[in-house]
Amino acid sequence: MEYFTLDNGMKMPMAGIGVFMLSPAEAEAAVESALKSGVRLIDTANGYMNESGTGRGMKKSGVPREEIFLVTKLWPTVYEKETAIDETLQRLGTDYIDLLFLHQPTDNWREGYRNIEKAYKEGKVKAIGLSNFPEALLQEAVDAMEIKPHVVQVEAHPYYPQTELKKVLAETGMGLMAWYPLGHGDKNLINEPVFTKLAAKYGKSNAQIILRWHIQSGNVIFPGSKNPAHIRDNFDIFDFALTDEEMAEIAKVDKGVRYYTATPELLAAYAAMELKEDK
Ligand code: NAD
Repeated sequence: MEYFTLDNGMKMPMAGIGVFMLSPAEAEAAVESALKSGVRLIDTANGYMNESGTGRGMKKSGVPREEIFLVTKLWPTVYEKETAIDETLQRLGTDYIDLLFLHQPTDNWREGYRNIEKAYKEGKVKAIGLSNFPEALLQEAVDAMEIKPHVVQVEAHPYYPQTELKKVLAETGMGLMAWYPLGHGDKNLINEPVFTKLAAKYGKSNAQIILRWHIQSGNVIFPGSKNPAHIRDNFDIFDFALTDEEMAEIAKVDKGVRYYTATPELLAAYAAMELKEDK
């Protein structure tokens, strides 16, 4: 495993698993299977409504809590709620979160950030993240908040490698977690000829070549999958390295196109979305 060292000295595994769109039972099974096959980073969110299953999967795996890097995200409707972080801990069945994000840049994010800072000081949260924040708000958080954010989470893949944002991150020492690392399974991306060519050369799958490109680009990855074989494969990317020429060849796949675009209407809908029961 390779690690990204956060500004506060914490070591974050560069590969893990995400449980977006899984039911609590599916998240439980995926997390248990992933941890048993050596994965040590888990990414969930209040908004996925499967933190309870994620917590059960962690327990069932038998892997000690201190070996797991647990990432979750507060949803905008609870940013101002004083008990939101304690309730998150309760659902996950743990007494600390390794990295807690604000999930969306809704207008009330500053209140949410202060709640996370308080939990950070109390030892309930070990690192702070901002997910889907535009660069201007990231800069505001860096400049104005007491504790600087440690990690950002954004859509990133070879079609949209976040070249501009990465310059900002390099200046501030923040890490990048890439969501949709496989383009949400887009076959056009996965089957780009350059990946097929490199997969044959290294005896890997196209998906593994893409994930290796992320690691060498400095991106932490946590692809989603319910398939234990894929979960294992997605983690088996640390026994080979792409050359500089191959990294440059992959850079040419950049289309400047992302799958998801935030709009004011979407942000307003997030701010109003009540979370369903997560059991
Ligand atoms: P992804 O890019 O990881 O793609 C997942 C898709 O690829 C699935 O359909 C899966 O079946 C397929 N796949 C997985 N491994 C494969 C393999 N080895 N070979 C071929 N196909 C494979 O997209 P995702 O799962 O939607 O995103 C990953 C994670 O990102 C989520 O689980 C979630 O934790 C996170 N996420 C965060 C945000 C955010 O707003 N912060 C938004 C979306 C997703």
